[in-house]
Amino acid sequence: MHFETEFDADLSRFADFDLIVAADGVNSQIRSAHEEKFAVDVQTRRNKFCWLGTTRLFDAFAFLFEKTEAGWIWAHAYRFDETHSTFIVECAPETWEGLGLDRMEQAESIAACERIFARYLDGHRLISNAAHLRGSAAWINFRRVLCERWSFDNVVLLGDAAHTAHFSIGSGTKLALEDAIKLAQVLDRPGLDDRTRLADALADYQVERQAEVLKIQNSARNSTEWFETLDRYLDFDLPQFAYSLMTRSQRVSHENLRLRDSARLEGVERWFWQGNANRDRPVQPMFTPFALRNVTFANRIVVPPMLTYSAGEDGCATDFHAVHYGSRALGGAGLVMTEMLAVSAEGRSTPACPGLYDDAHVQRWRAINEFAHRHSALPAASPMMDAALAAVPGASRNTGDV
Ligand SMILES: Cc1cc2nc3c(=O)[nH]c(=O)nc-3n(C[C@H](O)[C@H](O)[C@H](O)COP(=O)(O)OP(=O)(O)OC[C@H]3O[C@@H](n4cnc5c(N)ncnc54)[C@H](O)[C@@H]3O)c2cc1C
Repeated sequence: MHFETEFDADLSRFADFDLIVAADGVNSQIRSAHEEKFAVDVQTRRNKFCWLGTTRLFDAFAFLFEKTEAGWIWAHAYRFDETHSTFIVECAPETWEGLGLDRMEQAESIAACERIFARYLDGHRLISNAAHLRGSAAWINFRRVLCERWSFDNVVLLGDAAHTAHFSIGSGTKLALEDAIKLAQVLDRPGLDDRTRLADALADYQVERQAEVLKIQNSARNSTEWFETLDRYLDFDLPQFAYSLMTRSQRVSHENLRLRDSARLEGVERWFWQGNANRDRPVQPMFTPFALRNVTFANRIVVPPMLTYSAGEDGCATDFHAVHYGSRALGGAGLVMTEMLAVSAEGRSTPACPGLYDDAHVQRWRAINEFAHRHSALPAASPMMDAALAAVPGASRNTGDV
């Protein structure tokens, strides 16, 4: 054990070691020195953030949004031990510059944040975790690190050196620890007695960890982007804003929110269902009607256009189409969109694609359409069908009231 010792990226003095584990964090020197071998992809994200702490104890995870003359600024605050909470302040770069934070010394910008968030701090101070930094250096941009390869020879990356996940979903430490556990496991597998076996073990480590990490990084990217495009959500009513915030990473679904806090979710559903007072029970938003100009859809479920390659050589829809679209309509979707219908035989992508360039085609689609409307909740006019039929001058003469 060597404590308080800084190493550089020259690994030659460890050349005869069995394994070098580079767990040197997001700014890993070892990763940087071997970027090509690890196939590193680093993205510097847009927003500015400053990682602070406070003795104000928050009961639960809190997102604190404040409007200033230069734009919105917000804090991610959560308690991490008996006496302290993390307090990360984040804003768009324009707001950061507008507030003059780019020109302030750290102590000044901390004082500015104390003023902005005073009503949440109850008189407690904000504390720097990097007091040695001069000027605005404590304000940084999040760096998303992704490596295609996690090892070469006897060098292996672990934790933030290999991958980062935005602090707004708070999983970085978990990922780093799980990496360490997996690395210990693969190295413990039987038969590890030479370099080839080490390479196999390190390959296993990457395969078994990478998919898990990518899942979290995917959610983290959604969450990062939510905060980067906050303007889109600021005009939402409060229940919708809170709902959007809670589901931003797409890891927490509507039904998952119900498990966490069913009363709050029902409040959101009631809010969404305004104007439909005859329903005694709130329903999921996707099952509420949706009005688009003069058409009202029974719900917000749409069966998208899918190529089925099931038409006859003559371009005519077959029984397959009747059953396929008919059953989707009976399934209760608010809108069923057909696959594209070609306007000429030559216009088909394949000979198995349906067309709408012959009276026989029109009759067939009319029958499918009428069946769908007679036996389902599809609105009286199906825009997709109408659009397709109206686009064919010859056909429109024959469409009647479809
Ligand atoms: C603002 C913010 C908030 C976060 N909040 C959370 C959270 O709530 N929950 C969570 O799970 N994760 C959170 N994370 C992520 C978490 O901090 C990291 O994912 C985690 O610390 C990664 O662990 P690590 O061991 O890989 O790297 P690090 O914790 O960065 O450790 C790397 C170590 O290597 C040392 N080192 C680097 N270079 C050298 C050198 N040349 N010589 C000697 N030593 C060196 C460093 O000093 C450091 O101690 C947050 C991240 C940020 C930026």
